[in-house]
Amino acid sequence: MPVSRREFLKLSAASAAASTLGVELLATKSAHATPAMQWTKSVCRFCGVGCGVMIGTTNGKVTAVKGDKLNPINKGLLCVKGFYLHKVVNAKNRLLKPLVRKNGKLVEASWEEAMSLVASKFKETIEQNGKDSVCFYGSGQATTEETYIANKLFKGHIGTNNLEGNPRLCMASAVGGYLTTFGADEPVGSFDDIDSADVFLLVGSNTAEAHPVVYDRLVARKKKNPNVKVIAIDPRKTPTNKIIDLHLQVIPGYDLSIMHALANIVVKEGFTDETFIKDSLNFSDGKKAISYADYKKFLEKYTPEYAAEKCGVNAEDIVTAARWYGQAKSVVSLWTMGVNQRKRGVWLNNLMHNMHLITGKIGYKGADSLSLTGQPNACGGVREGGGLCHLLPGHRLVAKEAHREQIAKIWNVPASNIAPKPGKHTIAMFEAVASGEIKAAYIMCTNPAQSLPNLNKYLQGLKDCFLVVAECFHPTETSKIADVVLPAAFWSEKDGVYGCTERRSQHQAKVNEPKGEARWDGDILIDLATRLGHGKNFEHFTTPEDVWNEYLLCTKGKDMDLTGAPYSRLKEVRGLRWPVPSVDHPGTEHRFTSGDPLFPEDKAAGRRMYFYGKPDGRAVVFARPDLGPHEPTDD
Ligand code: SF4
Repeated sequence: MPVSRREFLKLSAASAAASTLGVELLATKSAHATPAMQWTKSVCRFCGVGCGVMIGTTNGKVTAVKGDKLNPINKGLLCVKGFYLHKVVNAKNRLLKPLVRKNGKLVEASWEEAMSLVASKFKETIEQNGKDSVCFYGSGQATTEETYIANKLFKGHIGTNNLEGNPRLCMASAVGGYLTTFGADEPVGSFDDIDSADVFLLVGSNTAEAHPVVYDRLVARKKKNPNVKVIAIDPRKTPTNKIIDLHLQVIPGYDLSIMHALANIVVKEGFTDETFIKDSLNFSDGKKAISYADYKKFLEKYTPEYAAEKCGVNAEDIVTAARWYGQAKSVVSLWTMGVNQRKRGVWLNNLMHNMHLITGKIGYKGADSLSLTGQPNACGGVREGGGLCHLLPGHRLVAKEAHREQIAKIWNVPASNIAPKPGKHTIAMFEAVASGEIKAAYIMCTNPAQSLPNLNKYLQGLKDCFLVVAECFHPTETSKIADVVLPAAFWSEKDGVYGCTERRSQHQAKVNEPKGEARWDGDILIDLATRLGHGKNFEHFTTPEDVWNEYLLCTKGKDMDLTGAPYSRLKEVRGLRWPVPSVDHPGTEHRFTSGDPLFPEDKAAGRRMYFYGKPDGRAVVFARPDLGPHEPTDD
């Protein structure tokens, strides 16, 4: 039976509590193995932790899931979400046939009827209203290959950059933070740092419920070393509090001043790494370069008392937190949507990084500034694969001529096909849908009519435009109002690659055929490309592996080089952390330092770290103003 939301939350909490008490998580014992069962290595498709799973099949049917003990992320554990994956494959609300709206009702149709309708409507809309009158909205739940095909079709062939993905709404701030601070997106370290950190700083993250397997690793670390301290900055008390030693329970939205106060104390009490600061850092007020002395002066305002007053916490607790942080040999900061989903998200990300930089606690075992990702492939498909309106595959930008030329060559199109101006970001895109400027939308593997903020603004527009939804399940709030609903293959029914929080790309294995008439999303998009007259550049994609091989060309020589991660290798290993530039390279645990194949020893000239995303190899410490929330809470 499918699990209700309430049951699911209860089970999540139970699982979190179990791990706190030292009880093995449910899933390690979950699989009811039978002699006939075959086990295949794969990956969970529910969150950015990227746990390895073993899929149990009996006579070609998915019958069980268990944690993959050989996977270094979860070492056999799964949370309740992964634990129930096999139930989802067989859920009753799987969509089995295409649906087309006729006389106001969605009725079953053939693939031919559905796809010819989609293609003719898209063609007509583009001809009559221009290429920017259509859009694509994808997902951090889609595989990299699927997002890549959509990118190639919409940006390279249709010629619109109106292509977005739901990660825009969850982690764009993390991207902005990494880019501005380090000059390159995605974390410096990895989950392995959790196993040796002495202090954890959790900000805006209910890890026990949102990322239970990470939480479990944290619990394990704390058990192994009882001196480990966990500090939380969070307005809420959550199940994660079970392992928290110091909770700074802030008034929502004022935590920027706490981060500055922590920095002020570590500077004043001598916990900074002056050599690292001198060799490897620049300072900025967000508009122009400032000096280290200017930064210290800026911090003076942020006394513990000032921050305590603003945030509604005790000044002594801020001092304690700063001392724990400063005295620790290594610190891992972890955060999620409490930091990212807000107006000042990029700034707060910068301030999290600031602390690691001024204390030098970054780039070695146990020291990292790690934004936890919500979705399983938000990093892989969308951030790395270029699934946002300003990006191209391989951490490239549509605005850069050289980047457009490089990708156009791989896509076999004139560079002029790719527009130099970013398309509409998610909110602007749905505003354009609401205003009627965008007249046809293709939604893949996501449910915006459920999840958009200020949803009521966009609902009527979504109903009025020509709405195509490719989805595994029906009804969803979005599929209910669609003009065409296309049944998509789910998880175990398709090969693909997911890239999780720690830069690790993992192969998802196809172990059974799609239910009913469902098709792989990539196949549906290739069908659409062909019907729109672009088949020539898509016909060589006969399998997801073909798509991955072309995508690898986009990563060659980039900071997220995955050239050494073809399917043949990914099927054997438990994922690889980029950069992994050759098939004999083991992958990279820490970036910008020795062991990273891109670390330029010559330029670094004896420095421990060289942030090669920045022209001078120096990361930036930001003196951001402590503006409060865009919309303060009231009673
Ligand atoms: Fe899946 Fe995330 Fe749970 Fe791991 S923590 S089993 S990746 S949902």
